Amino acid sequence: MQDKNDDMYEKICFICRRPENVTGKQVVMPGGISICPDCMQKTFDAIEHTGPSMNIPGMDMFHSMFDTNQTTKDSTTESDTEVDETKSEDEQPEKKSSDTPKEDNSEQKSQGFPNIRFINLAEMAGMQPKNRVKKRKEGEKHEPVINLKDIPAPHKIKKQLDEYVVGQDYAKKVISVGVYNHYKRVATENQDIDIEKSNMLMIGPTGSGKTYLVKTLAKLLNVPLAIADATSLTEAGYIGDDIESVVSKLLAAADNDVDKAETGIIFIDEIDKIAKKRNSNSRDVSGESVQQGLLKLLEGSQIEVPVGANSKNAMVPMTTVNTKNILFICGGAFPGLEEIIKERLNEQASIGFVADLKDKYDKEDVLKEVTVEDLRAYGMIPEFLGRMPVIFTLQGLTEELLAKVLREPRNAILKQYERLLELDEVKLEFTDEAILAIARKALDKKTGARALRSILEEYMLDRYYV
Ligand code: ADP
Repeated sequence: MQDKNDDMYEKICFICRRPENVTGKQVVMPGGISICPDCMQKTFDAIEHTGPSMNIPGMDMFHSMFDTNQTTKDSTTESDTEVDETKSEDEQPEKKSSDTPKEDNSEQKSQGFPNIRFINLAEMAGMQPKNRVKKRKEGEKHEPVINLKDIPAPHKIKKQLDEYVVGQDYAKKVISVGVYNHYKRVATENQDIDIEKSNMLMIGPTGSGKTYLVKTLAKLLNVPLAIADATSLTEAGYIGDDIESVVSKLLAAADNDVDKAETGIIFIDEIDKIAKKRNSNSRDVSGESVQQGLLKLLEGSQIEVPVGANSKNAMVPMTTVNTKNILFICGGAFPGLEEIIKERLNEQASIGFVADLKDKYDKEDVLKEVTVEDLRAYGMIPEFLGRMPVIFTLQGLTEELLAKVLREPRNAILKQYERLLELDEVKLEFTDEAILAIARKALDKKTGARALRSILEEYMLDRYYV
């Protein structure tokens, strides 16, 4: 491709666009592309940084060619899973680097090229360069992260939860026992009897404290927690987050410490949104397939997860996390489930000797009567439900409970407002009637305790505006 005329034109580096008189002698690659020594070096540095497995035969020749063989020897000893973070720094035009090709590596990297900026694909994918995994030391004895003595008894866990979460006594009791048993199981691992994992399924209307309960629990037990939304999950290969991304989130919450993450809690919210779609002939990539994809995580298996990203791609380092000791708690509002339960109860009640009034259950809180069959009828697949042995419900908050939410918990909303105004030396007081009025208004909005803050915010605007 190269013809004689090429000699008439000065070579321009294909990467940094600088002419040969600035960069020094350029190498002509196949296809007539010229590359300057600096860009060549940068490319090799980048390749070497991805790990020793990427060492390309014959590369030493290039090192000696540009006399820069003192570079990056140290970086090759780094873990396989690390990527070059230095690439993400903006490399602004600074000065000509060609006159000093023998500088040490770190200096060379901080130097920029005019008019170019190295593209960091990780940055483009919206991920942070936080993708280093804590190394597990070889040969070191694997100490359990959780100690049996450190796990408080269920009644103590519930007592602590009482300080934050109002009402929901039954749910708090079930979750305390479930969590206690789970960590007892983790702490006594490798003993003769394998205790089975007890993942939990939480059913309750929106704003009843499902997320808050799990968050508080994780804080009290000091274990990493990841909160994922089932609606964003899709089968691998489709637009949306891969199912493994829930484990990557936990890994990030555990500061990329795999051992710590392996004993954490994953809360999957809006689980009802991945119910099997009824009367649908197309492939259900965000419903049933997600349930199926979750099975192996819930059961416990070695999962390859991307570090610091939601999906796997060539630029993201991977690590293996065992989900055997991760506690999965799923939560959802399951709108429409009550009708399914009522239908079943009414059917049972109208047969034979136990026949009852047909609309007996219409007025009652039937959610607590939920069975696995009802959830199956709702669209959850049996294999999924089989891996959720603990199923419990939360009630919608009543007016009295909403009033309590306003003032009783440790970080109650009213206490927060009082503190805020205290800083301005204003004493804020709410009468009982005012609190009840706010609770009543919140109840009308049908979004549980979530409505409280917005009502107060609206009301307080004029008080703040002084
Ligand atoms: P959801 O059940 O939809 O997950 P959340 O747990 O997110 O609801 O609740 C939203 C907010 O409402 C929480 O951050 C918390 O401040 C408050 N809240 C809800 N339920 C309770 C409760 N039972 N006790 C105290 N605060 C609550």
